[in-house]
Amino acid sequence: MKCARDGNYSKGELQRFGNIELSPSAGVLNYGQGLFEGLKAYRKGGNILLFRPEENAQRMRMGAERMCMPSPSVEQFVEAVKATVLANKRWIPPPGKGSLYIRPLLMGSGAVLGVAPAPEYTFLIYVSPVGNYFKEGIAPINLIVEHELHRATPGGTGGIKTIGNYAAVLKALSAAKAKGYSDVLYLDCVHKRYLEEVSSCNIFVVKDKVISTPAIKGTILPGITRKSIIDVARSQGFQVEERSVTVDELLDADEVFCTGTAVVVSPVGSITYLGKRVSYGEGGFGAVSQQLYSVLTNLQMGLVEDTMNWTLELN
Ligand code: PMP
Repeated sequence: MKCARDGNYSKGELQRFGNIELSPSAGVLNYGQGLFEGLKAYRKGGNILLFRPEENAQRMRMGAERMCMPSPSVEQFVEAVKATVLANKRWIPPPGKGSLYIRPLLMGSGAVLGVAPAPEYTFLIYVSPVGNYFKEGIAPINLIVEHELHRATPGGTGGIKTIGNYAAVLKALSAAKAKGYSDVLYLDCVHKRYLEEVSSCNIFVVKDKVISTPAIKGTILPGITRKSIIDVARSQGFQVEERSVTVDELLDADEVFCTGTAVVVSPVGSITYLGKRVSYGEGGFGAVSQQLYSVLTNLQMGLVEDTMNWTLELN
């Protein structure tokens, strides 16, 4: 779909995956005016299940406002996702073998020379079948806490899914992977003491059966899986706190896990902080994250009745 600055998006068309043409002075290439989303489609018998696509649409609209971009409406976004998924039905893995990852992308595609919002925008969606995000599968991941580099600052763009946030993590993430870690956990850049999030997921700590996760204050992404897990946990009788969580609490936790569309619910097996390594559990899911993982994935894959009304079924 295309749109001029402040205009309405035209109806899009389906085309084969391939290169797209952009001006060398496109806003997205020069000034990072780009946003993306990520969601998954699962196969349920002959039908397809999408998980809360209108949440992705709303998050993209919020990000577009911050990035001075006109955004497709929630209806346009969801209709475009549906059409793309249906056209790619054959690529959705069978139940239990993975999912179809859906990547909506909104960018300033018009040419601009001085720093300014682009005059024209493109919204596109591509898809790819995926399995587990981490090479560990659903085995526990090992995180390193980064205390020098930051992905977000107060007043910046950490709370939206803009492309530059991911450029900001590449250095720490590459260094961590080269040392054998699965991913990086970031701290707040003011006190270097409070947990923020991981490069591609949110973090939760469990102590004495109380679940805590950093509050949304503009520097971390309001994850849709995070929000869903909080609701699932409360519905299962857990106490959940959204607040500032210190690195000391992390090191003293009974259980730690991450949430995200790609990582779903991934248990954390160890945290390394300033050269000190702390391990959790005995090499599998902790009891709390196992329970939350089961409830969430049963819903996402349509294995239980969707009492939350979170899935959208296509056929
Ligand atoms: N934080 C970051 C930085 C992410 O990239 C993601 C993945 N979108 C998340 C958290 C988790 O968000 P969600 O649950 O909506 O996938």
